[in-house]
Amino acid sequence: MRPIDIIKVMDDTLSNKIAAGEVVERPASIVKELVENAIDAESTVIEIGLEEAGLLTIRVTDNGNGMSKKDAVQAFERHATSKISNDHDLFRIRTLGFRGEALASIASVSKIIMWTSDGETEGTEVQIDGGRLVKHDNAAFRKGTDITVSQLFFNTPARLKYMKTIQTELGHTIDLVNRLALSHPTIAFKLSHYSQVLLQTAGSGDQRRVLSDIYGLAVARKMVSFAGENADYKVSGHVTLPEMTRASRNYMTLIVNGRWVKSNAINHAILDAFHTYLPIGRSPISVINVEGDPYLTDVNVHPSKQHIRMSKEGELLALIKESIQKAIRKNTIVPDAIKKE
Ligand code: ADP
Ligand code: MG
Repeated sequence: MRPIDIIKVMDDTLSNKIAAGEVVERPASIVKELVENAIDAESTVIEIGLEEAGLLTIRVTDNGNGMSKKDAVQAFERHATSKISNDHDLFRIRTLGFRGEALASIASVSKIIMWTSDGETEGTEVQIDGGRLVKHDNAAFRKGTDITVSQLFFNTPARLKYMKTIQTELGHTIDLVNRLALSHPTIAFKLSHYSQVLLQTAGSGDQRRVLSDIYGLAVARKMVSFAGENADYKVSGHVTLPEMTRASRNYMTLIVNGRWVKSNAINHAILDAFHTYLPIGRSPISVINVEGDPYLTDVNVHPSKQHIRMSKEGELLALIKESIQKAIRKNTIVPDAIKKE
């Protein structure tokens, strides 16, 4: 027989570890959460330093708004956020974060040292070991935040065992930072692994320049720009012509209101714009920016916020296809045979 009254509410340490299972999959997921926080804090310079692809340490330094001494520990509480306070806000998200879960989750599966200052007061140092606060002190620091996450998954060996090779983990993080840099051309990013610089952007605001930093000047020069708008959305971006394609869709980046997201439907609309000009199995290198009232997009579909629901999607897809088609037509190179006539 089932004993009576056996249900208990779990303690915070346990529930944070469970939540960590959803958002902290690998080093790249931590980099994503930390960099998104730096972006939300209005930073203009963000540096990411890794050791052992982030399994040993991930350090993110920003020059954003920083935190007060009290907020510096409050930030690690579950469901603690400065970004939304009611359900009106929830349906009009303008920041990358809003769930107030990332820092609590990350702190529960690693060791953290953070310095932060809001520029008003001296600055604060916080240390957390596996979710346990071990230091909370004044410390001299300039405005901004510097957070180091080390010994990732030291207390969740099953997750640690699941990590792939250094090269694979590093690949995921490089890909992520590339997309974040494309989404925020006004921010200067620097990603390094030990002393090796893997990506550096100028923060000039020019997306084509970021494309060049990532894919090289030769590719960026070949990309054509497109733009269009309807009653609800504005789209713009850059795309390679059929002469320069890739065998995977990983080179297609979609940015909705400054957030890198994934959408098969939008990828299809882009491929559709090429009609039959794309060789089978090939995709362009592209970046597309979609802007619209945050009310039209729902990012609260999954904790990772990588998928979104969009209202009036049919109209948006048509707009994307048409804008790219126009750009292709305008820029398609006339075959040599015809040129000679
Ligand atoms: P969320 O981003 O969903 O609010 P997080 O757990 O990622 O939740 O962060 C909690 C809070 O900590 C944020 O709402 C923000 O106020 C603060 N914070 C985190 N990182 C930074 C940072 N780099 N600069 C300034 N504030 C930060
Ligand atoms: Mg966050």
